[in-house]
Amino acid sequence: MPEIITMGPNGLKVPDEPIIPFIEGDGTGPDIWAASVRVFDAAVEKAYDRDRRISWKQVLAGQQAFDRTGEWLPDETIEIFKSHLIGIKGPLTTPVGEGFRSLNVALRQILDLYVCLRPVRWFQGVPSPLKDPSAVDMVIFRENTEDVYAGKELEAGTEDVKRALDFFREQYGWDIRSDSGIGIKPVSATGSKRLIRAAIQHAVDERRKKVTLVHKGNIMKFTEGAFRRWGYELVREEFSDVAVSWEDCGGDPGDKILVEDVIADAMLQQILLRPANYEVIATTNLNGDYLSDALAAEVGGIGIAPGGNVNYVTGHSIFEATHGTAPKYADQDKVNPGSVILSGDMMLRRLGWNEAADLIIKGLEAAVAEKIVTYDFARLLDGATQVKTSQFADAMIERM
Ligand code: NAP
Repeated sequence: MPEIITMGPNGLKVPDEPIIPFIEGDGTGPDIWAASVRVFDAAVEKAYDRDRRISWKQVLAGQQAFDRTGEWLPDETIEIFKSHLIGIKGPLTTPVGEGFRSLNVALRQILDLYVCLRPVRWFQGVPSPLKDPSAVDMVIFRENTEDVYAGKELEAGTEDVKRALDFFREQYGWDIRSDSGIGIKPVSATGSKRLIRAAIQHAVDERRKKVTLVHKGNIMKFTEGAFRRWGYELVREEFSDVAVSWEDCGGDPGDKILVEDVIADAMLQQILLRPANYEVIATTNLNGDYLSDALAAEVGGIGIAPGGNVNYVTGHSIFEATHGTAPKYADQDKVNPGSVILSGDMMLRRLGWNEAADLIIKGLEAAVAEKIVTYDFARLLDGATQVKTSQFADAMIERM
């Protein structure tokens, strides 16, 4: 019988037939969803026969929602994500001038999804600009609610910004050019610690050996620098039995997890030159944005990079494509469904349905290794067989 996933004292309680809300997405979203859902259902059936299945529940957001209801993000959609805890979505058109920065950001804020989770690994056969992309195997925990994304900005030339500039001059003696715009970068101990806590816990659960705090604390001492300091504090306060900070061990953690830190600009070099040195990354919002796209490009780019937005306390999670709607390819059954499919892999692992998730990886690896790929990979691979979105799903299912 279809049932809702709930949160218990020991984590998620997942019934054998969970109801999972999904948003198809706009543009190429419907093509991608149609292919992805077949892959998910095939993997679950193959892994558990008829003992488990997903009861999918469509909810609306984006252009589709606007066309049918006049709203970009209907209250009903928000309520369903709130009550069902776990959901998945395709890409959404960002409404211009509608009071939303983006629907994705709105959903993250409403559900307080404080971790943007981006696993980055390479699959055999995927075209990459690196000499050895197999060395890339990282999980990025990007803070999702603070930093310059908090949306606290004042426009140059307005009365508001003049008042703020006068205040800064009078109170702090700060002399800021009068035709400046201003943005505020809030980074809190609460926001930083809950993000870093999730990253360290992930390292513990997945038996990873190192967590790297990425920050720009040499320049922004009380925001980025504080993120680092709070991270090291957290290791001492809550994880001293399993982890140790670089500050406290000088780089020799024994058999504990090492929590180290790297300045953001150096990290962008490191992921190119020595990617094998990094496993779990915890970072502030803007650094995380740059890092996750740079890393996605190293292992095959935007068509297959998955993402999840998670609140580990309430259990709310939305897994999503990281690319946009690619509207020029809409209804052509053409684009790569890999990003949504791998987001589903992440979702199944969050449910604890690892056997089904493993089958998804198996199908994807086998199809790509045989160079059966969509146009985006086909143009980068010699001797590829270019297939449509739906045919790529067929190829994966046949190879599970
Ligand atoms: P985009 O939709 O990501 O597309 C940019 C390019 O990326 C495409 O032209 C294509 O490159 C490649 N691409 C994207 N998805 C692909 C896929 N599944 N398979 C293969 N290649 C793929 O970015 P955009 O054109 O800037 O944005 C379009 C709309 O999406 C906007 O409304 C934007 O606000 C929205 N958006 C939504 C999300 C989200 O919901 N998560 C994220 C970003 C943007 P080639 O043409 O070179 O093949």
